[in-house]
Amino acid sequence: NEMKNGSANPTSSGKGERLQLIDEDQKFNPSVKEYLSKWGIEDVGFNYDLCAVVGSQSTGKSTLLNKLFGTSFDVMNENERRQTTKGIWMSHAQHAPILILDVEGSDGRERGEDQDFERKSALFSMASAEVLMVNMWEHQVGLYQGANMGMLKTVFEVNLGLFQAAKSKTHVGKDKTLILFVIRDHIAQTPMENLSRTLLADMNRIWDSLSKPEGLESVSITDFFDFDFTSLPHKLLQPEEFDRQVLQLRGRFTERSSSQFLFKQQYHKRIPADGLPRYLDTIWEQVMTNKDLDLPTQQEMLAQFRCDEIASAAFATFSNSVKPFRKPLETGSIVDTLGADMAQHRGVALAKFDKDASRYHAEVYKRKRLELLEKLNTALLPLFLGQLRNLHKILIALFKKAIVDRLRGESYDFGQVVSEERKKALTKYNAAASLILLQDTDWSVKEELSQFEEDVDKIADQCRAEETVKMVTQIERSLKKSIAEPIELALSKPGPDMWDRALDAFRVALDKAESTYLGKAKGFNCTEEENAIALNSLRRKSWLALRSKVDEQTADPVLMSKLRGLFEDKFRYDDQGIPRVWKPDDDIDGFFSKARNDTLALIPVYARIEPSDPSKNITLPSTAEDPIHSAVVDRGEDEEFDFSETLNIFSETRKADIEARFRKEADAYYVEAKRSMVSSIAQ
Ligand code: GDP
Ligand code: MG
Repeated sequence: NEMKNGSANPTSSGKGERLQLIDEDQKFNPSVKEYLSKWGIEDVGFNYDLCAVVGSQSTGKSTLLNKLFGTSFDVMNENERRQTTKGIWMSHAQHAPILILDVEGSDGRERGEDQDFERKSALFSMASAEVLMVNMWEHQVGLYQGANMGMLKTVFEVNLGLFQAAKSKTHVGKDKTLILFVIRDHIAQTPMENLSRTLLADMNRIWDSLSKPEGLESVSITDFFDFDFTSLPHKLLQPEEFDRQVLQLRGRFTERSSSQFLFKQQYHKRIPADGLPRYLDTIWEQVMTNKDLDLPTQQEMLAQFRCDEIASAAFATFSNSVKPFRKPLETGSIVDTLGADMAQHRGVALAKFDKDASRYHAEVYKRKRLELLEKLNTALLPLFLGQLRNLHKILIALFKKAIVDRLRGESYDFGQVVSEERKKALTKYNAAASLILLQDTDWSVKEELSQFEEDVDKIADQCRAEETVKMVTQIERSLKKSIAEPIELALSKPGPDMWDRALDAFRVALDKAESTYLGKAKGFNCTEEENAIALNSLRRKSWLALRSKVDEQTADPVLMSKLRGLFEDKFRYDDQGIPRVWKPDDDIDGFFSKARNDTLALIPVYARIEPSDPSKNITLPSTAEDPIHSAVVDRGEDEEFDFSETLNIFSETRKADIEARFRKEADAYYVEAKRSMVSSIAQ
């Protein structure tokens, strides 16, 4: 393959032969040594020079080298536009011991890999050549992009860190490289001095902006580089003038005695020719392994800058268009179209970004788009959360109202009411929440939903507690009604089993009340504990209802009239229930004292609830024995309850008082009986 390692025009002396020093795969050619020896340069010690050329593609670099040194580097064929083979090519001058490096990149400048190779080869050239030609069109002067200034900045920077920092400061100034700008197609209109001044200013500006390694912060660009400038006329328009000036330039490379001689002693890298293959290999190795060359390419930096600009413009418009949603959400409203609106405004912003930014470096664009998306989502998040918050409040209120309304109705099943309304509320919440859950976010309603469920349940619990109280009160009222008559009846027929009868009636009523409660509470979802509390409360209230019925039936006048009636029945009526007409031989005293004593014996029966059959006893826990009730009492929600105290209807004092009053009344009956007998005798 004549393109590789070989020459298109080989001669026996190897004149004009070229070698692909670094190939397309960035591999270093191991046969440099053989070529050097073939070219007669292996044994010359320091007596050789090395120059290299860098610059944009197709600016006539190879053409110039071939003319200057008689080399045969590939030149882009004007008719075929055939791509030259990529790599760093090496050749030697026909007229002097000069080694020349020619860099072939590829045309597509926007691709990062080309920039990577361009930087590597430029760095390699800068580190190895005595004279580095920077070839450019005249119109590229002063253009940062076009004239590889960005590339030079990176190369300067890496060169400084990689190859110069290692040398001590004492070396500074002794080991320089000459940078020779070659301005092509120079039309004499702009004097060379102006062009040089512009370029030099550019160099200084680039140097000032470099990040310099420690200890080298204050070194100046001229400590490492000398600059020279030359120009050539248009090759096609002024071919003779072009050839003449190239010839002149060649003299500067070859004529050691000339004051214009370019290869000054101080630029020589002091590598003996036989060590050169190894040296170049090492430098290429260092260039290849250097991470600093992976600095974001020019394009990436540009892309970052522009993408940021485009993103912030898109974001600003977006911010304005979502602003109107803030107020209604802050004041508690639900914005029905919020989900669609948020998606729309976010979409518009992204589309705006995509339209302008997608033309830039793909990776950067992708990354910046993700950043923008995150920023948009972050800005939308408060709206999302605000809507959820309002949704929560509004649906909770609706839920509460719906339950209260339905409980106002005539007949309802509380459990059913709650479970239906709960389901309705959750469905509404989920539906509304899913409308504002945007794609491409990490948003979730999980926490909010469970908080909502919790609050719904809290309200259901409250309603249930109220409903339970209401139900217990109702049951208690109907129990009161149902025990009224049997108790009155039992207490109006006192005797040893009076309380047995009264308690029987109470027990029946209480059993009914309890089963009514349990039946109704089935749909309530009450806990065991809640049921236990409600039942205990129901029992206590029922018992107190009994007690108040008993109190009513044993109030002074009622009790006195009962006693009077009982006494009268015994004293004034005979066994057949016929009124007695006292006759003189009747034992008034005997009848009287029996009737009086029998009646007096009833007072202690009324005084205390105590059935004759102990199995009929009812016992309820007192507050102190019932921890749940004592807690309720402690909260001030109920009163203390002392069961044993409720068994005592009246005290010893009152007993004595009633007894005394009764005796007086009985005495009156006795006197009246005596009188009636006396009067019947008198008739
Ligand atoms: P390289 O890629 O920089 O090495 O450029 P080449 O030497 O391959 O030349 C690229 C094209 O530019 C070729 O078609 C040359 O004929 C043409 N060319 C070479 N020198 C000059 C010049 O001084 N001026 C102009 N205008 N064209 C040139
Ligand atoms: Mg070329």
